[in-house]
Amino acid sequence: MKKFSLLFISIVIFMAGCSERVQENPFFTEWDTPFGAPPFDQIDDEHFLPAYEEAIRQHREEIDAIINNPEEPTFENTIVAYDEAGGMFRRISPVFGGLRGAETNDRLQEIAREVTPMLSAHSNAISMDQELFARIQAVYEQRDELGLDREQMRVVETYYRDFERNGAALPEAEREELKKLRERMSMISLQLGENQLAETNAFQLKLETEEDLAGLPESVRGSAADAAESAGVDAKGIVTLHNPSWIPFLQFSERRDLREKVFTAYFMRGDNDNEHDNKDLFAELMQLRLEMARLLGYNNYAEYFQAIQMAEKPENVYDFLYEIWEPSLARAKEERAQMQAIIDREGGGFELKPWDWWYYAEIISQEEYELDDSEVRPYFAIENVKQGNFLLANNLFGLTFEARPEVPVYHEEVEAYEVFDRDGSHLGILFIDPHPRPGKRGGAWCGTYRSGSWDNGERISPIVTIVMNFSRPSGERPALLTWDETTTYFHEFGHALHNFFAEGRYRRTSRSVPRDFVELPSQILENWAGTPEMLKEYAFHYETGETIPDELIEKLKNAEHFNQGFINTEYIAAAILDMDWHTAEHGDEIDVRAFENESLKNMGLIEEIKPRYRTTYFGHIFGTGYAAGYYVYRWAGVLDADAFMAFRESGDLYNQELAERFRNYILANNAIYEGMEAYVKFRGEEPSIEPFLIQSGLK
Ligand SMILES: [Zn+2]
Repeated sequence: MKKFSLLFISIVIFMAGCSERVQENPFFTEWDTPFGAPPFDQIDDEHFLPAYEEAIRQHREEIDAIINNPEEPTFENTIVAYDEAGGMFRRISPVFGGLRGAETNDRLQEIAREVTPMLSAHSNAISMDQELFARIQAVYEQRDELGLDREQMRVVETYYRDFERNGAALPEAEREELKKLRERMSMISLQLGENQLAETNAFQLKLETEEDLAGLPESVRGSAADAAESAGVDAKGIVTLHNPSWIPFLQFSERRDLREKVFTAYFMRGDNDNEHDNKDLFAELMQLRLEMARLLGYNNYAEYFQAIQMAEKPENVYDFLYEIWEPSLARAKEERAQMQAIIDREGGGFELKPWDWWYYAEIISQEEYELDDSEVRPYFAIENVKQGNFLLANNLFGLTFEARPEVPVYHEEVEAYEVFDRDGSHLGILFIDPHPRPGKRGGAWCGTYRSGSWDNGERISPIVTIVMNFSRPSGERPALLTWDETTTYFHEFGHALHNFFAEGRYRRTSRSVPRDFVELPSQILENWAGTPEMLKEYAFHYETGETIPDELIEKLKNAEHFNQGFINTEYIAAAILDMDWHTAEHGDEIDVRAFENESLKNMGLIEEIKPRYRTTYFGHIFGTGYAAGYYVYRWAGVLDADAFMAFRESGDLYNQELAERFRNYILANNAIYEGMEAYVKFRGEEPSIEPFLIQSGLK
C-alpha cells in the first residue's frame, strides 16, 4: 500500500507541473456552481477546442440516431429530438462567445479561427443532410393531420423553413456550392471583425501639453489621464477610438487640429490600405452573399433576409427609411446652418467639417438647451441608474433583484444578481459588466450564458448578461453616466427582461423573434427612463443625494429634440448604405469606396455628416445578424414610440393591464405569436409612425 501511495504522489506532483492536465475539462462535467453558472475560474482557454470536438461528435451521434430511427418520422422522434440535440454546444458556445465579446485575448481569437471552420462544416453538414431533411419534410407535409397545437405547428414550420433557406431542397451540386460559400463567408466575417478591433486599438492620441487639453472639462481630463495610466503611456492623457474617449474629446476639445486627427482616425478604420484593411474582404463578402441569395431563389441578399422579417421585403424597408430620411435631412441642414452661424459669429473663418459637429452641437446644447453634460452626469451615478432599472422592472412586472456575489463571474468587475418574479419564484441570474477593457468589444449588448428552457417539465432558468462600455469611475468618484449611457443601460436591460420572460416548450421558437422586432423590448424601456415620474425615483445627485430638479428634467425633455437631424441622418444613412450593399447587382469588381460614395450621394447625405458606420467598420453587417437589417433599430423605434404611447394614453405609466399584455404578447410568448400579430394583440392596432416623429421633434 505504501509503495502505491508514493507512486501516486509522484504522479500528482508530475501532473501539477502541467496544470491543464491535472484540471478536468469543466465542459465534460456537471457544474455544481451556484445556479449552475459556468465555473469561469476553472475554465481555461485550452478547454474549448477539445470540448467543441466532443460536442460535434455527440451532436452528430444524436442526429444519426434521429435519421436511423426505424420508426416513421413523427413530431416527437424527429422535430422534438432535433430540437433537443446539441446539448453540449449549449454549454460551450455561450461561454466561448461571451468571453470572446467581453474578455478576449489573442489565444481565444486564435482558437476561434480554428473552431469557426469546424463548426460551420458541422452545421452545414446537418443543415444539408438529405436524410434528416427528408424526415423533417415528412412531418411538415402531414402537419395538418397530426393534431398539433399552435406552438408545435410553428416549430415544425420554422424548422422546415430553416432547412429550405439553408438550401437543403436544392440539387446536390448547388448544395455543394452553397456549402463552400458559407464556409468562406464565416471566415471573412471573423476577419473583418478582427481587423476592426485591431484598427480601433491601433490609434492613440497623446495629450502632452496643457494646450492639448484646451477646453476639456475635469471629467474628460480625468478619464484621459486614467486611460493613459492604464495603457502605461507617459502623458497628461490619451484619446482612443473607443466611444467614451473620442466622443467627449470631440465635444469639448478646442483644438480643431486634434479633433480632425481623432475623427479622421475613427472614420478611416479598416480603410487604411494596411494589413487590417477591410475593403477587399468586404467586397468579396458582398459577392458571396449575392451568389448565395441567387442560389436560393432570391434576387439579392436583402430579399432573402427580409422574407422572414416583419418588413417582408426591401421595398418596404426603403419606403420606411425614406419616410424618416426626408424630415431628418431637412432638420440636419437647419442644424448645419445654425452651427455655421456660430462659427461665423465667433469669426472662425472656416467651413464646418465632420469633426466639428460634436463641438458645435455641444455649444448649441449648452446655449439653447442649456444641457451641460457635467450638470447631468452627477445625477446618473451608475449605481443609481442600475437601481432605476430594477425599479422599473418592479413597477411594471413586480420583479425583484438580489446581489449574488457567490455566483462565479469571468471578471472582478462583473456583478451577479438573482432575479425573482412577482410571486417570489426564481426567474434567473443577471450579470452586469459595465466598463470598457482592452479585451472587450466596443458598444453594448445583451447575451446569455444559459437560455431559459424546459427539461422534462422542469424549468431551466436563464443566465443573462448585459455588457457595456460605460464611463469608468475616476479616483474616489463613482462612474457618472452620460444621458446616452443611461438610456443604453435601460436598453440592454430591456433585452435582458425579454430573455427572462421567454416561455415556450421548444428551443427553436421560444425566444425567436424577427430582427425587426427584437429591439422593441429594449428600446421601449428607454422611454420610461426619461419620464419625470421615473427620474424622480432614481436620479439622485451622487454627492448630495438631492433628487434631480424639475428644471433639469425639463431640459432633458427638451433635449430629446436636440441634434435629432444629425442623429437620424447619420443612422439612416448607414441603414440605407446597408440596404444598397445588399440589393445591388454586384459584378466581379467592386470598388468599395466608390460604391459607398455613390450610395451616399444618391441619398443626398451632406458632407458634414458621415454615416454612423462606414463600410469598413460596419460591424453590424459583417456577420449575418444585421446584414440588410441595420434598419431594424429605427423600425423598432417606431414600434416602441407607438407602444409607449399606449401607456401614456392610459394615463398610467405603470398600467398593470397593459404591462401584463406587453409581457404576454411581446416578451413571453414569441413561440406562439409573431411579429405584427403579436404587436396587434398587445396594442389593438398596427403601429403608427406619428409618435416617433413627434417624439424626435421631426414633425
Ligand atoms: Zn438592442
